[in-house]
Amino acid sequence: MKLQMVDVVGQYRHIKREVDDAIRSVLDSGMFIQGKEVGEFECEVAGYLGVKSAVACASGTDALQIAMMALGIGPGDEVITTPFTFVATAETIGILGAKPVYVDIDPRTFNIDPALIEAAITPRTRAIIPVHLYGQPADMDPLLAVARSRSVPVIEDAAQAMGASCNGRKVCSLGTVGCISFFPSKNLGCFGDGGMVVTNDAALAESMRVIAAHGSRVRYYHEVLGLNSRLDTLQAAILRVKLPHLEEYNCARRKAASRYNELLTGLPVTVPFVAPGADHIFHQYTLRVPKRDGLAAFLREKGIPHGIYYPVPLHLQKAFAMSGGKKGDFPVTERATEEVISLPIHTELTDEHLKFITGSVREFYA
Ligand SMILES: *Cc1c(COP(=O)(O)O)cnc(C)c1O
Repeated sequence: MKLQMVDVVGQYRHIKREVDDAIRSVLDSGMFIQGKEVGEFECEVAGYLGVKSAVACASGTDALQIAMMALGIGPGDEVITTPFTFVATAETIGILGAKPVYVDIDPRTFNIDPALIEAAITPRTRAIIPVHLYGQPADMDPLLAVARSRSVPVIEDAAQAMGASCNGRKVCSLGTVGCISFFPSKNLGCFGDGGMVVTNDAALAESMRVIAAHGSRVRYYHEVLGLNSRLDTLQAAILRVKLPHLEEYNCARRKAASRYNELLTGLPVTVPFVAPGADHIFHQYTLRVPKRDGLAAFLREKGIPHGIYYPVPLHLQKAFAMSGGKKGDFPVTERATEEVISLPIHTELTDEHLKFITGSVREFYA
């Protein structure tokens, strides 16, 4: 049985004709940069999320950087985030000369623990970046309450959570800015790199649009230092075909997750916890397990792909050595890095796949 962590080709096959037509029409137009599909896709995403403005950019990483640049974050500033995330969340803070200030996670959701945020706020805190890890919304209500009471903007890293919602409201529409990634393996993936920032603040949207376009509003007149960060017209055209399928894609992932839960019953593994009010879209299906590295080796032998997201917490990464993080600083995160393992999850999984994968997990613990 051939298994993949994500099956991007299988998903493409179902919409091949529409995608191929969309690509061909861009090729015929010759408008590879800032073609009409980019603006159309921005409007469609804004409508889908229920936000006023959306600005496309080159990646989820750029989305985070553009959001922070527009908020004026730079040297000497502090940005609060989680140490249990993909490097881009904190890398962009560091690249701007600001300092990531980590707050430990909730052991059940793996998301930033809002109860610990207040104590991490200082007069230098310029933003809080919750990450909706694995597709589950962070606990936003208490987080937003702290942020509001201290007048700190909130940047949602929704790279893994496009379409997820929190008490009926889509993530990305909850904080000051939402950042999305269209990396191929994300829930709404394009065929290369792509990203977007969204907000209800018109002035901030305008500022992000200028920053993404070399700091320029009028060609060759540059108001601020910016980036070359654009979504290709080709990617926008592909994403326009895929966006109407996003709900169905997320639903397929949710179904696979609940089938996994059933099939793993009785094993010494902890299946994903879904917080009340959270609509988890299962970018990853992540277990907490005993003998994690043994299970990983066993699955590898069986040809079952799996992922460890993430094996090293950010405060212990070499790239952040200057921040002086040490073992023991964030015990809940450190324990998670030793116990998590993610099983394949995507829109093309069959019951046979799921039975084979969970059968092998069962075999390991027998
Ligand atoms: C994927 C990801 C990013 C970065 O997105 P890219 O489009 O790959 O640059 C940022 N944050 C998190 C949590 C991610 O998973």
